[in-house]
Amino acid sequence: MERLDHFMARANREYYAQNDPFADFTTSPEISQMFGELIGAWIAAVWQDMGAPTAFRLIEAGPGRGTLMQDGWRTLSRVAPAAASAARLHLIEFSPRLRAEQAARLPQATWHDTLADVPSGPAIVIANEFLDALPIRQFLRTGAGWRERFVENGRFIIQSAEAPNRPAEPGEVVEICEAALDWCSELAGRLESQGGAALIIDYGTAESRPGDSLQALRQGKPTDPLAGPGSADLTAHVDFAAVMAAARAAGAAVWGPMPQGAFLDRLGLAARMARLAAANPDRAASLHRAAHRLSAPEQMGTLFKAICIAQTGAPPPPGFAE
Ligand code: SAH
Repeated sequence: MERLDHFMARANREYYAQNDPFADFTTSPEISQMFGELIGAWIAAVWQDMGAPTAFRLIEAGPGRGTLMQDGWRTLSRVAPAAASAARLHLIEFSPRLRAEQAARLPQATWHDTLADVPSGPAIVIANEFLDALPIRQFLRTGAGWRERFVENGRFIIQSAEAPNRPAEPGEVVEICEAALDWCSELAGRLESQGGAALIIDYGTAESRPGDSLQALRQGKPTDPLAGPGSADLTAHVDFAAVMAAARAAGAAVWGPMPQGAFLDRLGLAARMARLAAANPDRAASLHRAAHRLSAPEQMGTLFKAICIAQTGAPPPPGFAE
C-alpha cells in the first residue's frame, strides 16, 4: 500500500527517465516558436524592471526538450543583448535523458535537481507545465467522514484520514499537491529576499474546487493512471488559488491567474504571428493554426493560466497589469 503522492512521484521519475514524453503529449513551446519568443520578450521586460542587473539567474523548472528556452534566449539576445549577457542559465531537471536533450539546445546552461541547489542571487524563473507533474494526494469525502486514496496492486484503496482543509460534499474528491505548495512557497521566499520574478504557466482551476483530475496520457490518449507505473505521464490540474495563497503567505506579491489566451494576446501574439507570416508566406496558415491552438478559449487559451510571483514592490509584470 502506497500513498498516492508517493506512487505518483515514483511513477513520474521513472517515466521521465525512460521515455520520450513528447511522444505522449504536446506542450505550448512544442506547438510554436512564438510561445518561447513571447516569453523571451517577457524576460527582457522584467529584467529592465529589476533595474537591468549586470548578473542574474535565469532559471527554468522542467524545461522538457529545452525548446521554450531556446526560442526565448534567441529573442532575449535580439531585444536585450545586455540581459542575455547578464543571464546565468540554470535548469532544474530530474531526467538524465531530458538533460541531454536540453544540453544540445542550451549548452550555456548548468543543471540542478532542485530549486534549493540553484546559487543565490536575483532571478527570473520560468515554469511551463512543471507543477502539473508534481505528486498529489486525493481525499474522498464519504457519508462516514474523510478517507484518503492509496494505491495497492494497481488499484485504489481507501483509508480513514484527517479532514483536508477544503470543503466538499459527500462523494467528492479533494486534491492536495503539497509538492506544488512547498515549491511555490520556497520560490516566493527566495524571490522576496533576493529579488526577481517567476512566470508559472499550467493547466488548472482559478479556484480550489473538488474533482478528480488525475490523468495519465500515452500517445495522446488517456490511460489507467495506476497501470504500469512509469509507462505514462501522470498529471493533475493545478489549484492556482492554493499555490497563489502559498506564495503570498511566504511574503511575495502574486499576479493572475491570467488565462493563457489573454496573456499571450497582451504580450503581442497577433503581431508576432503577422511578422513571421509576412517573412514566411508559405507558413502563414500553420502559424495561424498554432496561434489559435495556443490562445483560443476552446483550445489552450482558458484552461491554461499564467501567474507571476515577484518581490513585493516590483512593478506589475508585463501581461498582468490592469
Ligand atoms: N516545460 C516543458 C516540459 C513540460 S513536461 C514544456 O513545456 O515542453 C515536465 C518537465 O518537468 C519535464 O522536463 C520533466 O522531466 C520535469 N520534471 C517533472 N517533475 C520534476 C521534478 N520533480 N523535478 C525536476 N524536474 C521535473
